[in-house]
Amino acid sequence: MRPARALIDLQALRHNYQLAREVTGAKALAVVKADAYGHGAVRVAQALEAEADGFAVACIEEALELRAAGIRAPVLLLEGFFEADELPLIVEHDFWCVVHSLWQLEAIEQASLLKPLTIWLKLDSGMHRVGLHPKDYHEAYQRLLASGKVAKIVLMSHFARADELDCVSSTEQVAVFEAARQGLVAEVSLRNSPSVLGWPSVSSDWVRPGIMLYGATPFGEGQALAARLQPVMTLESKVICVRELPAGEPVGYGARFITPKPMRIGVVAMGYADGYPRHAPTGTPVLVAGQRSQLLGRVSMDMLCIDLTDVPEAGLGSTVELWGKNILASDVAVAAETIPYQIFCNLRRVPRLYSGA
Ligand SMILES: *Cc1c(COP(=O)(O)O)cnc(C)c1O
Repeated sequence: MRPARALIDLQALRHNYQLAREVTGAKALAVVKADAYGHGAVRVAQALEAEADGFAVACIEEALELRAAGIRAPVLLLEGFFEADELPLIVEHDFWCVVHSLWQLEAIEQASLLKPLTIWLKLDSGMHRVGLHPKDYHEAYQRLLASGKVAKIVLMSHFARADELDCVSSTEQVAVFEAARQGLVAEVSLRNSPSVLGWPSVSSDWVRPGIMLYGATPFGEGQALAARLQPVMTLESKVICVRELPAGEPVGYGARFITPKPMRIGVVAMGYADGYPRHAPTGTPVLVAGQRSQLLGRVSMDMLCIDLTDVPEAGLGSTVELWGKNILASDVAVAAETIPYQIFCNLRRVPRLYSGA
């Protein structure tokens, strides 16, 4: 059997969820969109269901997957519905639903529904992606109430730059949000992971942690609370071939690495078809036989090469950690000029093995 696999530590997941609660004192929706950032939405939701206040997903297809697996907790659709004909299903399964655009509001007004909805009314407080314009916010709230189709409204917005700790943007967004919601008496939800960890002064009845649940920092720099996160996923494989090369020999596609001296090289069963980033360059950290080492040359579809020259204890069959508790996914992401979110979401083909359920 091919030795590539992703080990998922559900105990660490619960630790990270509790950290989000503990540092905010708020209710927390565990964000499990995109198959729980590659960790497996059903298994993640099952592991958290006893303690979680609810879950958040991108779309009804993801929400239905959770219900089909028996998850009864609240599930928020972060983009609401894409077509009005999703509304009966939203009612049937008690999904909570974001309204981010006027067309969604109109669709609710025109729908005939068997039960009233729980709506999270999204304001565009400055990110300019989705969300109602501040001038429309009050009226949208009143129209939802007047429609008779809504039982509860939560007021929400989303930060564009909360991962930049010195940036005024988040403070400005909070000010826009506070002004737009003046006079509306309802619960509030503002905070994603970087805001949970880095912006203690932002008040929010509900927080929406995603990446932090999986133990990766959303920050490009060190951050005190992020240091308390526990990595959930360990991506590992084994050395399947060892070669001794003299100086001056090319390694891998495109001869992107030429041995500068005699070297010992290990070939690992892991490639970009597993989600390991193809753009990770020579020097990207790996752990082999418990020692830190580095990637050499181009990542192939199914294999990659690492340096064993200074790790004499490593050889055929040695375990290699590509990221996990020792090699942080965020460090691999930096090397590959991407973010841990994408590193995790790209995971495919490798079996996921769960522990700590
Ligand atoms: C994805 C998402 C989150 C979670 O973001 P993280 O940075 O992963 O914590 C929160 N809120 C909304 C609206 C999202 O789309």
